[in-house]
Amino acid sequence: MSAVTQMQQACETDSVTVGTLTIDLGAIVANWRLLAERAAGSECAAVVKADAYGLGVAAVAPALLAAGCGTFFVATVAEGVQLRDLLGTDPSIVVFNGPGTERDESETLRAQGLLPVLNSLEQVGTWSAFARRADAPLPCVLHLDTGMNRLGLAATDVQALALDASRLAGVDVRLIMSHLACAEDAANKMNRRQLVSFLQRCAPLPPAPQSLANSAGIFLGPAYTFDMVRPGIALYGANPVPSGANPMAEVVHLQGRIIQVRRVDSPETVGYGAAFSVTAPTRIATVAAGYADGYLRSASGRGAAMIGGVRVPIVGRVSMDLITLDVTAVPESVAIPGAGVSLIGGGISVDDVANAAGTIPYEILTSLGPRYGRVYRPASPT
Ligand SMILES: *Cc1c(COP(=O)(O)O)cnc(C)c1O
Repeated sequence: MSAVTQMQQACETDSVTVGTLTIDLGAIVANWRLLAERAAGSECAAVVKADAYGLGVAAVAPALLAAGCGTFFVATVAEGVQLRDLLGTDPSIVVFNGPGTERDESETLRAQGLLPVLNSLEQVGTWSAFARRADAPLPCVLHLDTGMNRLGLAATDVQALALDASRLAGVDVRLIMSHLACAEDAANKMNRRQLVSFLQRCAPLPPAPQSLANSAGIFLGPAYTFDMVRPGIALYGANPVPSGANPMAEVVHLQGRIIQVRRVDSPETVGYGAAFSVTAPTRIATVAAGYADGYLRSASGRGAAMIGGVRVPIVGRVSMDLITLDVTAVPESVAIPGAGVSLIGGGISVDDVANAAGTIPYEILTSLGPRYGRVYRPASPT
């Protein structure tokens, strides 16, 4: 698609939606390549759970597959089935939550060639029993808990497996993984503790390729990358090393639209709760997007947007469908009804938006609502 066609599409969708969400598939591919380079010697998979962090798995996953990504991680069996349908039979697809107790689910995993993550002795038992009934070794991933205490086999569970090899009968372990709790904080002692624990817990088990690092884990250095890395958020442009400059390319641009501009002066207030008091002659621009679109209300009075190269603050409360900006610093000819404002991207990083809302970029991306018109910039063929 040409840039002009994309812009036309964007304009057309703007007329019927609250704004335009542009997702740059080329940037996602560039980010995957950068992470693969950082983890040289390790396979770089892609985590595309929750609809590729809200950005649209149907567009994101095929772009990554075309770029050479061979392993994808999702959260649920349903996501795995959808992804298999999208990507065909070639890539490995791993389901983090593993098999449920329903036999149907194991049948589906097998029929679709999905690898469940086995997170408990119960799931090991489920998969082993199913494999013995099927009379075929069935591939899967083993998850060892090293400190998250969320999912994964505990130390005593690993011992039980090491002592009784029959528990793994029919279980073809293709990967042993664990998950880091504090990887974005490189100085945190938890990282090394988990690394040591991972090595210790793998030792008594039959050898298999290993995986520990998420996005931030890749930046902890080569000791953490093992045989496979599992980045998610960094693919989508958020900063995996929050203490430094963001090495990732910008993926998301969210453009909102001004629907009204008004002049106000002291002693007036703006919005619900009269939360913002005007102290001088001010121009307020009202933008048609709100918390119903995933622009979190907790960013009230804290977030900012960009218009005409000027960073303008959100004043007053974010409401369901509207945001109010103080555009006094923007030329009157620029801040007019119909003008676009950058709510994410174009000078406002997704990390900035998350900070303003008191949350993490993961929540900002997965909250992006259905009222935005979506435009996918294609990855250039290589
Ligand atoms: C979501 C998830 C990832 C990806 O994490 P990011 O921080 O988004 O890179 C990796 N591993 C597991 C087990 C996950 O649940």
